[in-house]
Amino acid sequence: MRNRRIGILALQGDFALHGVSLRAAGAETVDVRVSRQLDDLDGLVIPGGESTALLKLMEGTDFFEAIRGFHDRGGALYGTCAGVILLASRVGSPAQPSIGLLDVDIQRNGYGRQVDSFETSVPVPLLGDPPLPMIFIRAPVIRSVGAGVEILAELRGRPVMVRSGRILATTFHPELTPDTRIHRLFASMCAPVGRGRCVASVGGSVLR
Ligand code: GLN
Repeated sequence: MRNRRIGILALQGDFALHGVSLRAAGAETVDVRVSRQLDDLDGLVIPGGESTALLKLMEGTDFFEAIRGFHDRGGALYGTCAGVILLASRVGSPAQPSIGLLDVDIQRNGYGRQVDSFETSVPVPLLGDPPLPMIFIRAPVIRSVGAGVEILAELRGRPVMVRSGRILATTFHPELTPDTRIHRLFASMCAPVGRGRCVASVGGSVLR
């Protein structure tokens, strides 16, 4: 079986370190700067950074439709921090456009300003011991999730890691820690696609 080929949206933000973690997880990585590069991928990471800057850089491109089409064809998506804001179906503080594939209600900068950024460790039952180190940088808060969204970790009563079909989302930055369990999990969610095949298991049922 060939390695998973995973793209990292490389328009802005913390894309380089995702490449390091994904390669440590055994994946081949591609920096994605134009939407046609999605045709050849099994998964895509939308990194943290600044969602307003990402939106500006996507203006006048077909990235929104291309990412929706990639997901429809069976591509897996992983959003961190600003990446989750782009994937969310509802964004607040303030409201802004989004790709809308992940059924969550999200509030930007929900933990406060830059000085309120913090590091902690949180148990993630799916990943086993030890608790996962998490770095939150002007992170958004997920205020509510839709019925099909599985909460994989919570902090202060709010979801910080969720999964919905073949979409994974974390409001923290795992690529800034040496722990590669999240990137391994995401690589395992990526099955060969683009050539019409993808197997994603959701609650025991197999999609596609
Ligand atoms: N505060 C940023 C935003 O609203 C996200 C920060 C991050 O990705 N670390 O887009």
